[in-house]
Order: sequence, then C-alpha cells, then structure tokens
Amino acid sequence: MYDGVIQELIDQLGRLPGVGPKSAQRIAFYLIETDSEVALELADVLREAKEKVRFCATCGNVSETEQCSICLDPKRELTSICVVEDSKDINSIERTREFRGKYHVLGGAISPIIGIGPDQLRIKDLLKRLSDPEITEVILATNPNLEGEATATYLIRLLGSMEITVSKLASGLPVGGDLEYADDMTLGRAFEGRKRVN
Ligand code: ZN
Repeated sequence: MYDGVIQELIDQLGRLPGVGPKSAQRIAFYLIETDSEVALELADVLREAKEKVRFCATCGNVSETEQCSICLDPKRELTSICVVEDSKDINSIERTREFRGKYHVLGGAISPIIGIGPDQLRIKDLLKRLSDPEITEVILATNPNLEGEATATYLIRLLGSMEITVSKLASGLPVGGDLEYADDMTLGRAFEGRKRVN
C-alpha cells in the first residue's frame, strides 16, 4: 500500500478491464515518473472522450454526433443490417471490408447468469428499424460463445417469420471467443460464407 493519491491512482487503474494489480502499479508509476505532459494529455483526452462520445440514436454505435458516421454515410446500403453485441465488433467487421450495409448494436448478449435478458438489449429498437420495407437482410454477428449463440437463437426465433432473410456468420470463428479477437481474414470469410437461418 502506498500513501494517499498514488494508491488512489493504482486502485482506479486496477478497476479497468484487463488491468491486474501489478499492471495498475506499473502504469501508475509510469504516469507519475514520465513527463507531466503525457499524463496530463491522457487526463484531457479521457475527459474529452467522456464528455463528447455518446451512442448513435439509430444503431447504438459510439458517436460524437446524434447519428454515427456509418448511419449518416449515404453510400452505405440501406437493405441490410448487421446485428452485433458491441460497438467494438463494428470495428472488427469494418476491417474485413465485406459489409456495406448498416449496423445495429445490441449492447450485450443474453446471459441469465448476470441477469441480462432480451429486454435489457436494444431488440425493440431493432424491430422498429426492421419495419422499414427497404430492409431485406439481417445478418447476425453475435460472438461465437454461449451468450452470443443464445442471443442469435433468440433473434432467429423472433425474426424467423418476418419477410426478411436472416443469416448468421459461418462457423470457423474460434468458438468461445469474441469477434473482437478474430483475425480479419477469418472474420471476413465467416462473413462471406454466412448462412441463411430462416
Ligand atoms: Zn449509427
């Protein structure tokens, strides 16, 4: 234990995902020992990000404006919506360059263990968007793990009877993992090889 604000900094850093106590201590000392500018710039950008970044009113992606750049892009196809758990997944799929439609971020996946059911996800918003007759395909790109599969199964049942093609990423993605960690080529192939499920 350190005195006062140093320990406070270590404790705060230790709350971040993926940062254990040892890393928290290492980062804290790096920030204290390094040029004051580096640490202060980090503090500034952190504040700015927290103040400016919000969620797109249409798709739920991170955005600095009411609607995100993908929703505002007139070159994106309006006919298909790719459903993902997280904003981070949009970034992974964009890197594959396989998809030119729009996205819908659920904000998580169904997980009874931590008390997340369909009502906690942005599923009602998705249904609202799907009432637009221009949309002909929904691509389910939830994570290839238990929660992601449960969410996809739920959505297949929910959307199955609609006049829309519902497809799901092809297998081949590392099971149990996150889309976030899939390499671009594997994810690109899974996207290209997506299968119709309704
Ligand atoms: Zn958007």
